[in-house]
Amino acid sequence: MFKRILVLAPHTDDGELGCGGAVARFLEEGREVFQAAFSAAARSLPKSCPPDTLVREWKAATSAIGIPAGNLVRYDFPVREFPAYRQEILENIIVLRRELKPDLVLLPALEDIHQDHQTIALEGIRAFKQISILGYELPWNNLYFRNNSFIILQEPHLQKKAAALACYHSQAHRPYCGETFLLSLARTRGSQIDAEFAELYSLIRLVVS
Ligand SMILES: [Zn+2]
Repeated sequence: MFKRILVLAPHTDDGELGCGGAVARFLEEGREVFQAAFSAAARSLPKSCPPDTLVREWKAATSAIGIPAGNLVRYDFPVREFPAYRQEILENIIVLRRELKPDLVLLPALEDIHQDHQTIALEGIRAFKQISILGYELPWNNLYFRNNSFIILQEPHLQKKAAALACYHSQAHRPYCGETFLLSLARTRGSQIDAEFAELYSLIRLVVS
């Protein structure tokens, strides 16, 4: 199952935060992984940081996790304003669908309350009507979450996720970027299914071929 996986990341760090462990596992298993990021959130950076800071950090992070540079796609929508660009974002995702032909899409969960994340979730579901979709967990953005899908991980997958997140120096102040947090969360999710580690996903659609 699942040979070509596409990660939709509203902002450059969301892919690593939400599904970095699963991506590390998929790559280890020889599956093809693509990631599209829709904003490098230049306006959210401290004034002391160059505007391309998150682009550079994203390239380093995705490289650390093992995604080939040629499998990355980046757009430049203004952070916090995605709802105003909904149609343009949908059209871009439809192009991704045609060009990449994924059989699994990982995107923000419908339970995510960030307006940019909601836009990517809804437009992603609109664009991909025929294939499996999982919504990844970003607990700080979720009012509630359906605990209905898990991807079991091993410690090396989480070490790769931690190494990727360590590339985001501009986000190091955020408590959820640290290794302690991500290991604790992965242990918590693993405990729900009697595994040592897991990432939690909210199932949007499952297609078994
Ligand atoms: Zn985000």
